[in-house]
Amino acid sequence: MASLLFLGAAQQVTGSCYLFETDELGRVLLDCGMHQGGDAVKRLHQESFAFEPASIDALFLSHAHLDHSGLIPLLVHGGFSGRIYCTHGSAKLLPVMLNDAAGLYERDLKFENRRRQRKGKEILDPIYTKKDVETALGLCYPVSYRQALPIGKAGKASLTFYDAGHILGSAITEISFTEEGRTKKLVFSGDLGKKVSMLMNEPSTVADADLILMEGTYGNRCHRNQQETVDQLAQVLKETWENKGVVMIPSFAVGRTQEILFHLGLLHYEGKLDPWKVYLDSPMAIAVTDIYDECLNVLDRKDAAKIKEMHKGSLKHFLPSLNYINSPEESMALNDNPHGAIIIAGSGMCTGGRIRHHLERKKRTDFYRLPGRWYLGKNPGRWREKHSSVW
Ligand SMILES: [Zn+2]
Repeated sequence: MASLLFLGAAQQVTGSCYLFETDELGRVLLDCGMHQGGDAVKRLHQESFAFEPASIDALFLSHAHLDHSGLIPLLVHGGFSGRIYCTHGSAKLLPVMLNDAAGLYERDLKFENRRRQRKGKEILDPIYTKKDVETALGLCYPVSYRQALPIGKAGKASLTFYDAGHILGSAITEISFTEEGRTKKLVFSGDLGKKVSMLMNEPSTVADADLILMEGTYGNRCHRNQQETVDQLAQVLKETWENKGVVMIPSFAVGRTQEILFHLGLLHYEGKLDPWKVYLDSPMAIAVTDIYDECLNVLDRKDAAKIKEMHKGSLKHFLPSLNYINSPEESMALNDNPHGAIIIAGSGMCTGGRIRHHLERKKRTDFYRLPGRWYLGKNPGRWREKHSSVW
């Protein structure tokens, strides 16, 4: 008899992980995400699996965001050696995501251990290393959308990914299996995009299912009309330009950043963008934007066509005033910009990343205290809560 265990993303929105088991399929995991928020080292060292990693036969990954993929190296460290089924887009994004997370973890652990040493506390061993990331990436098995792949012991069960329209490579997972002489279908939505999202295709429609696992992060909210959001962005940019200000956009490196670049590009070509200098201040977002450029053919056809017909056919060149900021020194130097800069930096929730040093520096200066909504209080967290509705 099939069984399903919810191991994360229940009563919370991160740590997506479900254990699904049938005679035919064996034991498979749907996603292997990390819990996010708070101190990264503390949080990671509290993570443990409610199963033996070596007993898992395969992992089906819905998409590359860390709250769905971040614990894959830990799974491998624990002995998992099965296939990681994912889409081609996810297979391209995973190396960037997992290596970046491993690098940050290594750095933070070193810092924490130095603190512990000073206080005479026990040193923490890493729970996984970059070697585990490398092993995990070697287990990836990319599958195209809408291609039913035979899986399981007798090869009678099948796995099909459908475009979820959330980020590059995001998938709705459909598992078809036979039980008591009847074919049954489990559908796992993963994170779903909005119908009107820029660059992304509309989420696919799945015709039937016996059981649906559905994400509900914004289930209690009606999103406002896309045009209103773009109009608000244009208005904020105009006001801030007139006030000789700096615009800082905290943004997620995957998906949201590319969407913002696209909107800024459209405003530019419509003649609605003042001569801002736009800085993408995040090595991870830069790497991901380049991957989006490689994969324009699987993105929304209409939006990709706009990018292709204007400026060298890439998001990187879509906005002529876009500058990539890689080194920390270049990032710090941005603080000297008197005005006229749009800085896009991680993290999207202002809980880490380079956006924090920009917010810290700017709140001590006068010119940043712009009228109305762009006033920045002492607490970046509060600022985010007030204004996150824009993005
Ligand atoms: Zn996601």
